[in-house]
Amino acid sequence: MTTSKAGSWPTGLQDIGNGVYAMITPDGGPNAGFVVCGEHVLVVDSLMTPAQARDFLAQIKRVTSKEIRFLVNTHYHLDHTFGNQFFSPPAQIISHANVRKKLLDLGGQAYVKEAARTRPEVASVTLVLPNVTLTGDLDLHLGDRLVRLLQPGHGHTNGDTVVYLPEQKVVFVGDLLFSKVTPAMHDGHNRRWMSILKKIAEMDIEVVVPGHGPLSSRAELEEERAFLREFRREVKGCFDKGMTVEQAVAAAKMERYSAWPFRERLERGVPRLYAELRGEI
Ligand SMILES: [Zn+2]
Repeated sequence: MTTSKAGSWPTGLQDIGNGVYAMITPDGGPNAGFVVCGEHVLVVDSLMTPAQARDFLAQIKRVTSKEIRFLVNTHYHLDHTFGNQFFSPPAQIISHANVRKKLLDLGGQAYVKEAARTRPEVASVTLVLPNVTLTGDLDLHLGDRLVRLLQPGHGHTNGDTVVYLPEQKVVFVGDLLFSKVTPAMHDGHNRRWMSILKKIAEMDIEVVVPGHGPLSSRAELEEERAFLREFRREVKGCFDKGMTVEQAVAAAKMERYSAWPFRERLERGVPRLYAELRGEI
């Protein structure tokens, strides 16, 4: 276990107990996880680079020799899907139908090529698409474990899936939660995202595995909701004054959250929220 430079939280493989693990990558990078279920393993997200995915796979193999039967992609973003090839085959890849659709709309392998222009470390990725897609909740009964896949609607993206283990009170929320890290809001829907966070916080949960940042709990879900509320307040203030997107980007400083890394992400959140305030999304 090492400590991230971005914050001072534990990174690496975290044993949550009862066969549930979270993989927390350093510096607020993408997180993943896995659950040992009867004779099989269910993995949540596949990370981004081949190096990350291979390391994650090796850590799973160190814990269990059981077959990885399912991989859930919590959403389409490359830092959660580009490692898919290392898990499938043999895993069936489950996601919201919009994840497969979006990856195809982006050109499938062409999305990898485009991403590799700024991230050469993903150039060798062969994108493997989800092959089991759904639009609604799904219960998986694996061994004696219940795994609930919940699709709460358009929050971080229009294809978010939450993986809930009700008996263990653990929830993997993907990028609905960036814990102690500035969230990426360019595909989000601010108002619905806040209401989804409220609903998850009301569930019977003890441990929340975020898409980025440290292992969390209900408090961080509420902190994220407060962040989104403040962002809405600042940006809507600009919108209501008739300011342009560029002016709003300069004005929405989110001072209270200045310690959170990746502040440059605020910039892409502004036009998205403007579109929402105009009723376009
Ligand atoms: Zn994301």
